[in-house]
Amino acid sequence: FDDRDGLIWYDGKLIPWRDARVHVLTHALHYASSVFEGERVYDGEVFRLTEHSERLVKSAETMGFKIPYSVAEIDQATRDVVAANRIVDGYVRPVAWRGSEMMGVSAQQNTIHLAFASWVWPSYFDPAARLKGIRLALSDWRRPAPNTAPVHAKAAGLYMICTLSKHKAEAAGYHDALMLDYRGQVAEATGANVFFAKGKTLHTPTPDCFLDGITRREVIKLARARGYEVVERAIMPEEMAGFDECFLTGTAAEITPVAEIGDYRFTPGTVCKQLIQDFDGLVRPRAAA
Ligand code: PMP
Repeated sequence: FDDRDGLIWYDGKLIPWRDARVHVLTHALHYASSVFEGERVYDGEVFRLTEHSERLVKSAETMGFKIPYSVAEIDQATRDVVAANRIVDGYVRPVAWRGSEMMGVSAQQNTIHLAFASWVWPSYFDPAARLKGIRLALSDWRRPAPNTAPVHAKAAGLYMICTLSKHKAEAAGYHDALMLDYRGQVAEATGANVFFAKGKTLHTPTPDCFLDGITRREVIKLARARGYEVVERAIMPEEMAGFDECFLTGTAAEITPVAEIGDYRFTPGTVCKQLIQDFDGLVRPRAAA
């Protein structure tokens, strides 16, 4: 993805895509001192931009480093990179990391870098195709406890577990994996949160050891506005046998219906369909108006 046209915002400047490089002795590469975001651009606007910028700053603080830009400056840099690449429907990837001046675990004085890339990535609004649902494997890698890792940070290191889970799932012919947490409770997919529906009630795991997604929170609001009861609670994997519908939420996933998790089966239906429509109206208010 490095050899293409476009501009990347790198430490305050827009530079050619191909020139946005780091040194091999970058602390982040060796010790995972890196935090990032994933954002969607709908009709030229980043959805919930400031919430993402705030989460980026907070993730960095959790990791013990300070991004040398304010949330307002991060918002502006994001808008600048979207405009510079003329993105109408796309994705933004902000990333902040500890640099390469000193080698070793500590390297506290190393420069903190910040970069943003943005590329075209339309979301295809075809409810019928989506309602087929994707297939998830049940991962045997688990989300760690809050005293084992900074579980609420969108920190690169935590994605090792996601990559391992996803690769194993893909090798077995699945689209993605559902991970349990350190207690054996249902946690999340490798880049998205999970919801289950039974009648007019939605059940979703309490986000006490994984990312409380921005999309997740929006979907909870949409569902309540539609008269669904939304229960955040501990969900054991065996309970999945009793749910009718299942879907994932996330910036990339938006609302993705799920047909299968390991041996459990779901039938995406009215709940998925309604929320997909409501979500589309939320992210594209002009189209809905
Ligand atoms: N969990 C994980 C592991 C993720 O990578 C993401 C995507 N950022 C989410 C949940 C959903 O978060 P959001 O809705 O803020 O994109």
